[in-house]
Amino acid sequence: MGFPDSVTVVEVGPRDGFQRETTFIPTEIKIEIINALFNTGIGQMEVTSFISPKAIPQMADASEVVSAIERRREGLRLIALVPNPKGAENAVRSEVDEIRIFVSASESHNLSNVNRSIEESLMGFQEVMRIVAGHEVAVNADIAVAFGCPFEGNVPSEQVRWIAGQLLALGAEGITVCDTTGMATPPIVRRVCECLLTAYPELDLGLHFHNTRGIGLVNIYEALNLGLTTFESSIAGLGGCPFAPGATGNVCTEDLVYLLHELGIQTGIDLRALIKVAKRMEEVIGRPLPGQLMKAGLRLDLHPFNKEVRK
Ligand code: ZN
Repeated sequence: MGFPDSVTVVEVGPRDGFQRETTFIPTEIKIEIINALFNTGIGQMEVTSFISPKAIPQMADASEVVSAIERRREGLRLIALVPNPKGAENAVRSEVDEIRIFVSASESHNLSNVNRSIEESLMGFQEVMRIVAGHEVAVNADIAVAFGCPFEGNVPSEQVRWIAGQLLALGAEGITVCDTTGMATPPIVRRVCECLLTAYPELDLGLHFHNTRGIGLVNIYEALNLGLTTFESSIAGLGGCPFAPGATGNVCTEDLVYLLHELGIQTGIDLRALIKVAKRMEEVIGRPLPGQLMKAGLRLDLHPFNKEVRK
């Protein structure tokens, strides 16, 4: 199979990235970054999480952030992560277009992440679905550590498939499989995706990779070869999972968009505008971030020739 003609890049930096920052990022800065990201042509974004401020103080301004986002284009999709029924109530009261529920593919990661068994998480989602019913909000589900668990090691594809089946039965419209601690490799990506798509050929399947071990884009390349078209990434490579040891670095959005454009795949995103936002993000966070394109520039951004510096 050839590459897809176009791909949807879902930006997760304002949620997955910001939530890991211990210093509170002022609400107006969050809004500035989110608006700037949407203005680059990004169409879907995880903009916040409706989680208890005690669990993640950084997300305490979720409602304020959502209500201040400019919707300059038709069809922008504001996504919020929701851990429980209380979060779902707050999310439907705000103006998000999609809520994301999440469960881990391994018992120990789910326990460490939300202090519940997988079964208990799935039961909780029934209540979330009841709250959401009748509201104009889509529900999608993330499966964390779908490509490997830092506590249990390999995760059987059948386990991921079983959880996906449960989530779909509950009413989730799409599934995103997440490589929360960067344990995916191309053969594992192939195995998990083929297992899911064989069971659910019509599945709206998204992928969320981390670059923890330096092969995030390689895993995406493998998924592109499988014909997959939805990828999550974080501006400047910000982020990770605060509950997983050693988990740093989402795949970087501008590096991903660069790869996609070089492969002739359309994204609808202005790459140079995206690089500007990545640099602004680095300024806001106040330390160097992992994104590489913002440091090196595009491949044909040539440098003035100077014999004197030739070595
Ligand atoms: Zn992530």
